[in-house]
Amino acid sequence: MSSSRTVKYTCPYCGKEFDIEVYDLVHAEKDPDLRDRCISGDIFRHSCPHCKTDFMVQAPLVYVDEPNKFVIWLSTQPVNETLRKLAETLDRQKYRLRRCETVQEFTEKIEILEDGIDDVMVELAKYDCFIEFTDNKKGNPEDITSIEYQRVENGVMKINVRTGDKGMSFLIPVSMMEAEMEENSELYETDNASFPCINRNWIIDLFTESAGEA
Ligand SMILES: [Zn+2]
Repeated sequence: MSSSRTVKYTCPYCGKEFDIEVYDLVHAEKDPDLRDRCISGDIFRHSCPHCKTDFMVQAPLVYVDEPNKFVIWLSTQPVNETLRKLAETLDRQKYRLRRCETVQEFTEKIEILEDGIDDVMVELAKYDCFIEFTDNKKGNPEDITSIEYQRVENGVMKINVRTGDKGMSFLIPVSMMEAEMEENSELYETDNASFPCINRNWIIDLFTESAGEA
């Protein structure tokens, strides 16, 4: 069962107060409309009834997908003791547990895990695209606005490197990524029960630390 609460919110633009509905829990299978609103980001979008300005409100949210066996926790705070106990139970039930710090990461993570793709592999593929993009002088690293997972089709992963309103697609065979991960499998191990945050910073830290040890 999904759950939400109504909270008083002060408009950051006009300073007037009004009620917004904030979701704590979304159950994707039981509420497919809420699942769609998570993918689009609409669930976080609100409009001030006084000055009509639209803005995003990001509150902690637990997203459960039972058929695909994953739980995503949208939160800027790391896991606490209470959640850790629950996480250990879910981990034993083979749920993939992830924490996301931003709405952008959250919506992308749902798509990756619904596709049944290893998100560690996706972050590695995105990192490889970043290196290829900058090494081949296709653009400056500071011009990159985002690197996005698109989909996997016929064993090929599509990643889009965006620079402002332009984008460049990279097609990467999944078998190639699997081979790359196998070469260094220990490096990519994660502690599932800690709701790890598998994102761009995570992979950068991983390579920075392993370079430091070498
Ligand atoms: Zn307002």
